[in-house]
Amino acid sequence: MGLNVTSSTISLGEGSTPLVPARRLSERLGLELHLKCEGLNPTGSFKDRGMVVAVERAAESGARAVVCASTGNTAASAAAYAARAGLEAIVLTPAGATATAKRAQARAAGARLFEIRGSFDDALRLCRELGERDGFVLVNSLNPDRVEGQKSVVGEILEQLGSAPDIVALPFGGGGNVSAVAAGFAEAGASPRLVIGQAAERATTWATAIRISEPAHGAHVAELVGAGRVEVVTLSEDELRVAWQLLSHQEGVFCEPASAAGLAALERLPDVEGTTVVCILTGHGLKDAGAVDEGGSNPVDATLEAVLEAIG
Ligand SMILES: *Cc1c(COP(=O)(O)O)cnc(C)c1O
Repeated sequence: MGLNVTSSTISLGEGSTPLVPARRLSERLGLELHLKCEGLNPTGSFKDRGMVVAVERAAESGARAVVCASTGNTAASAAAYAARAGLEAIVLTPAGATATAKRAQARAAGARLFEIRGSFDDALRLCRELGERDGFVLVNSLNPDRVEGQKSVVGEILEQLGSAPDIVALPFGGGGNVSAVAAGFAEAGASPRLVIGQAAERATTWATAIRISEPAHGAHVAELVGAGRVEVVTLSEDELRVAWQLLSHQEGVFCEPASAAGLAALERLPDVEGTTVVCILTGHGLKDAGAVDEGGSNPVDATLEAVLEAIG
């Protein structure tokens, strides 16, 4: 079993995120929907659950630095825990393809960020090579401690819901999270339908957290699909955008674009009426505030009349 996170000397209080009943969306879909708000983890994404374990183990092994390739959230998380552990964090990101706030988080914690002229997949290949060098530990989800730590979300869902849901829906980027969730449910002796949403336009999607062409856990995910344990739904950019807006507009839950992939996938499934569903919302909306249309700036005169006229 994984390290007990609460006993970790570098814990920032990860996990124990709220499971929010989504009343209006439940009505719309004819089912009982709950939102697992992973954006409320310390650095704003589910990555913290596994990162605290991976960085603690790296420190125990006498490493000098942790290294990761990142679309942003892995970097923010690795940087924070590395700071607490007194390790260097070295991060490779695809140039021009990560959200500003995520890079700021990593830099604020003192990580050394290198923007690579290439894709996430190029960055990951380089990090795997770096991770082979003495003193460097790879903390991408290929590190088994990451997957081990990320399983903790399953126990929380079971406890908060009081039983296993019929369906759990989440995004599919590299596939580390669904691997962890599948393993967690198997260990708990529960077998909900696991539904994962991926962007049809993997290499260029607006949902940058899942802008990954070659999923690192692709072979394992294919095995899970073959065994009938996981279903993959491939989503258009419009489907992702609509689901993301619904979460904010209908439920007041502001997640980042990639996090809406589970709901978008759920919207596609036939025969889900009356089921109990948990959507895992992987990251906070403030991570990628630039995704929101600011609607243009139209200053209004500082009089009540002008404000009333503007309201209409
Ligand atoms: C990392 C990440 C994902 C993708 O998770 P995988 O384990 O790579 O499939 C989805 N959403 C957010 C917000 C992420 O940070």
